[in-house]
Amino acid sequence: MMRISLLGSTGSIGTQVLDVVERLGGRVQVSALAAHSNVELLARQARRWRPGLVCIGDASKVGELREACGPETRVTAGADGWIEAAAIESALKVVIAVAGTPGLEPTLAAIDAGKEIALASKEVLVAAGHIVMRRAAERGVRIIPIDSEHSAIFQCINGEDPASIETIFLTASGGPFAEVPKEELLRVTPERALEHPTWRMGKKVTVDSATLMNKGLEIIEARWLFGVRPDQVRVVIHPQSIVHSMVRFVDGSIIAQLGLPDMRLPIQYALLYPERVDTGLPRADMERIGTLSFRPPDEERFPALRLAREAAQIGGTMPAVMNAADEVAVGLFLEGKIGFTDITQMVGETMRRHVQGGGATLEEVLSADAWARRTAADLAEEIAIAN
Ligand code: MG
Repeated sequence: MMRISLLGSTGSIGTQVLDVVERLGGRVQVSALAAHSNVELLARQARRWRPGLVCIGDASKVGELREACGPETRVTAGADGWIEAAAIESALKVVIAVAGTPGLEPTLAAIDAGKEIALASKEVLVAAGHIVMRRAAERGVRIIPIDSEHSAIFQCINGEDPASIETIFLTASGGPFAEVPKEELLRVTPERALEHPTWRMGKKVTVDSATLMNKGLEIIEARWLFGVRPDQVRVVIHPQSIVHSMVRFVDGSIIAQLGLPDMRLPIQYALLYPERVDTGLPRADMERIGTLSFRPPDEERFPALRLAREAAQIGGTMPAVMNAADEVAVGLFLEGKIGFTDITQMVGETMRRHVQGGGATLEEVLSADAWARRTAADLAEEIAIAN
């Protein structure tokens, strides 16, 4: 019996985690559920899964949640509530599916409590991979990725000597604008950016996939998860989204993981690792799949990859700054306040203005994150005036 605490239960990944738990029919129990603000869905999930603890990030909604859950469920709220859900005694594994850097402190709390981590929130490793991985190593805690590419890599290197990894090939669908010329990118609307050709995901990651910033974040995620240098992680455009990533070893052999683009597969793998079971998930039919193609990305049209590699090489607080600026920029783009190509421009400019200092402790990472959000917001006003 696996008992999990699920942080971010009402989001795109969180709801799919519960779908997988349902399919596993009693093999996984839910100890705690935490969500940001969707009280209605969280209460429905709590009635279905009967966790011992339910937490809502938005403390103003705690009364509503209490009423909906009934007296037998413990209800908490706010940042302390998240930490409590992350460290809850009864859970063996904590699924981190929180949008963005708010997942960072609960992840550290779960590691400190000795929980195995199933990690969907790449931003946690982008902002503070050096802190999270060191802490996990000290506590002997395993981090299993849920991000599909990283789950693929994790599966490819299973049982291999980490020192024998030569190159990681992160596959990218290319997003909805893979073929769109540079001039046309200037006029892209949020509606168009939200139409991903192969994956159904939350809004932030869908826009990140369109700018390729998602792949940039994933380069940094991969270097921490698998202990490689950033230049060992290469991006290949693979429009069919069947090969979820590949690893080339020092002898030249390449191992790939394939499947349909369906997040439930990496979720199930992370929940049950190392076990594989049949829960009736749809199969890729290799006899009919046709062509699988690969090509290098166009970094001139998609500067996010260059920015991410730069941030990874500089290290320290720079990846946290890039990540926070991107979060702000994507939000403004979705509100129609800046254009599509302004997103990476804002991120690049915020990075240019950032003065690195110190050794990137948790406090320094969090304050760089806050600085980047303010700076990106100021930049947005400059862009609005210029437009
Ligand atoms: Mg991914």
